[in-house]
Amino acid sequence: MNTIREPARDVPVIGDWDVVVCGGGPAGVAAAVSAARAGARVHLVELYGSLGGIWTTGLLAYFLDHANKGGLMAEIIRRLEARGARAHDSRGEGTNAFDGEEVRILLDELCLEAGVGLQLYSRVVAARVEAGRLRQVVVESPSGREALSARQFIDATGNGDLGALAGCGFDLGHPETGAQQPMSLIGLLGGLRLEEVSGFVRQPGEAWAAPKDRLREAMERGGHSPSYGKPSLFPVRDDLFLLMANHEYGVKGIDARDLTAATLRGRRELHDLVNGLRRLGGPWSRLRLLATSAQIGVREGRRLHGRYTVTLDDMVAGRCHDDAVCRVAFGLDVHSTNPGAGKGIEPHPVRTQPYDIPLRALQARDVEGLWMAGRCISGDFLAHSSYRVTGNAVAMGEAVGRAAVNAAAIG
Ligand SMILES: Cc1cc2nc3c(=O)[nH]c(=O)nc-3n(C[C@H](O)[C@H](O)[C@H](O)COP(=O)(O)OP(=O)(O)OC[C@H]3O[C@@H](n4cnc5c(N)ncnc54)[C@H](O)[C@@H]3O)c2cc1C
Repeated sequence: MNTIREPARDVPVIGDWDVVVCGGGPAGVAAAVSAARAGARVHLVELYGSLGGIWTTGLLAYFLDHANKGGLMAEIIRRLEARGARAHDSRGEGTNAFDGEEVRILLDELCLEAGVGLQLYSRVVAARVEAGRLRQVVVESPSGREALSARQFIDATGNGDLGALAGCGFDLGHPETGAQQPMSLIGLLGGLRLEEVSGFVRQPGEAWAAPKDRLREAMERGGHSPSYGKPSLFPVRDDLFLLMANHEYGVKGIDARDLTAATLRGRRELHDLVNGLRRLGGPWSRLRLLATSAQIGVREGRRLHGRYTVTLDDMVAGRCHDDAVCRVAFGLDVHSTNPGAGKGIEPHPVRTQPYDIPLRALQARDVEGLWMAGRCISGDFLAHSSYRVTGNAVAMGEAVGRAAVNAAAIG
């Protein structure tokens, strides 16, 4: 491949903080808010123009594994309920779905109230490590290339971008095949009435399979078989629904060409599925695809090496730790990596139990001054499929924010 050599250049250092958090998804916001509430000077860098990651930019404000969490996760739910942003089922009980736009503004409020400095539209592109310690990150934005100094850094980029840039070791994909879980582009739907499509939505106490199978069959009658074999319709409010119906197989979340191809295919597929359903008439006659997510949902990126690696064995044993930061109750959830063998969730007939994530799994092994939170922490392929969901990402972020403040005080 041809290369060019970029000339060396001086990069302005625009600030010096106690803690710099990279990535403003569920984990990064929680980390920044908890560090700022503990009294630290905190700066949060986010690639897009919105906080929230999968909840907002990814259009999927559907919280999993939040029920056993207190702290910030419980506070977020309480505050969303107070503004009427939680979906309710036919018995009037709160579901896991929330109004994503209300989530977006709440996360802004949480950060601003805590005094977190926000820098949106900025991508972390380089890291400067000196004598084994991370000293600065370099970001690129409409303001150009700028460096940020801090005593402690937190990688909450989901894909582990900062850790990789700082030279940390990492794992990616299945240990034998390298395959990563498929990506999904999420759609926001309008024009449906819950009472008319209730057969395609999971009812209280019902198993997931039947409504998903009915939705797939309706899509097939509309002329398109969805690439995700278990398409899911989540009611949010009034006539607003979330749709997850697409799987992009064999693509990597850290490859721009793969991301581009997957996004284009996913968008085409969602439009085709929705247009096909509308043509069926009846309850679907007013259906509209209001938006597709600006960022395709990437289930798996780098799993950075930490001082402990969470494994399937921990899940089977229900392992507890003295330095536990989060108790994971969600089980194995590997979306098919091989569409030839099935397009739903892979069967992994292993009995697992709730287990702990220790703080050591959130502390980088190879570089000082770097912590991780969310889906890029240290774990194996199967454990990652369980701890990656957002209830755990928030709990990890909250804990690592406090840990970084303690480390900054003594570092
Ligand atoms: C399709 C799909 C469906 C899912 N379904 C659910 C579900 O129903 N419920 C659930 O709880 N979980 C679900 N998950 C899992 C969950 O979304 C993630 O594991 C979770 O988002 C992890 O939170 P995070 O903060 O680590 O990552 P993310 O939400 O990915 O946030 C990372 C943030 O970092 C930013 N960023 C990335 N790179 C950089 C960079 N270089 N510089 C600056 N900023 C950067 C991103 O823009 C983003 O805002 C799903 C995931 C996918 C992909």
